[in-house]
Amino acid sequence: MALFKKMDDLSSGNESKNIDNSSEHVKVLIIGSGPAGYTAAIYAARANLNPVLYEGLQPGGQLTITNEVENFPGYPDGITGPEMMDQLKNQAKRFGTDIRWGYATGANFSTTPHKVTIDGNKTISADAVIIATGATARYLGLESEEKYKGSGVSACATCDGFFYKNKVVAVVGGGDSACEEALYLAGLVKKVYMIVRKNHLRASKIMQERVLNNNKIEILFEHNTKELTGDDVLKGVTLIKKLGEPNEKEVKIDIDGFFLAIGHTPNSEIFKKYINTDNVGYIKTIPGTSKTNVQGVFACGDVQDKDYRQAITAAGSGCMAAIDAERYLSEIS
Ligand code: NAP
Repeated sequence: MALFKKMDDLSSGNESKNIDNSSEHVKVLIIGSGPAGYTAAIYAARANLNPVLYEGLQPGGQLTITNEVENFPGYPDGITGPEMMDQLKNQAKRFGTDIRWGYATGANFSTTPHKVTIDGNKTISADAVIIATGATARYLGLESEEKYKGSGVSACATCDGFFYKNKVVAVVGGGDSACEEALYLAGLVKKVYMIVRKNHLRASKIMQERVLNNNKIEILFEHNTKELTGDDVLKGVTLIKKLGEPNEKEVKIDIDGFFLAIGHTPNSEIFKKYINTDNVGYIKTIPGTSKTNVQGVFACGDVQDKDYRQAITAAGSGCMAAIDAERYLSEIS
């Protein structure tokens, strides 16, 4: 990954300078650097647990691709996602968190201490592991979608909507996220198509009502995306109406932007051999705690939260994970 090519150059402050093939033992290992990971780090560091935090592929997590955060308590004037993540990172560093570039590529929770592989080569063993790896936006998987990523295709309306002022865009999906994205975009653009594969929306009633009552939003029910078209930039989308039915037909619409809102995939793959997840991959925690089915392994943030997925709930669950880890460590010592 390009992100790790220049690890030594990019590290600073408390961030470690060397990544190697060696093994190392730490008390608390935190994997992931969104609001959950950093909050866990702040609490663990203040409890003298000397946490080591690996930032992962997207340091700062999903908030770094968000524009304004207006609903995190304590910021009456709002704050940008990247700024907030910088502040959380600095707060975690202030109490001595060892923050490192690196990506967890494997895990072995069959024995204690638990082991996690970083960047395919370094092994960290840890008395307690906090998984805060978040979730990643899903794409349709079309070749043409890849082609226009960054020049018409986006999975974040709040990040990229600004570029489509007075233009025509489409949002794919019929859930709460798709409605939220469509409504946000309707405040900026000339027209929003919602491309919905079923003949109904999956979103909550209130969100359905809002999109149905917004005259800038047109919902194309029973439409599937075939391909995106254009030259250097996106110009249109080809859809299939009533896919697989006798009256199936191709529909072409002109659009400038194509936004995906078809859900997220929790980043739990490398833990699944040991950690219980639901059928989508969200890590199961014991209700009211951050404890997983493996003693000494805790989960917080979006990787274990399919319902709320907010910065504040992620931060709250990060706090829970650090406290649960601290209690666990004092019980086993
Ligand atoms: P979601 O509820 O899983 O909805 C995903 C939508 O994308 C569904 O309409 C689904 O269609 C569609 N979809 C999935 N794969 C597709 C594909 N390959 N092609 C076309 N369409 C596809 O996901 P979400 O909207 O991200 O919401 C996730 C959770 O967060 C939900 O519990 C939601 O309530 C919550 N949430 C809440 C709020 C809020 O309250 N403000 C905001 C955002 C999210 P089908 O219906 O046909 O499966």
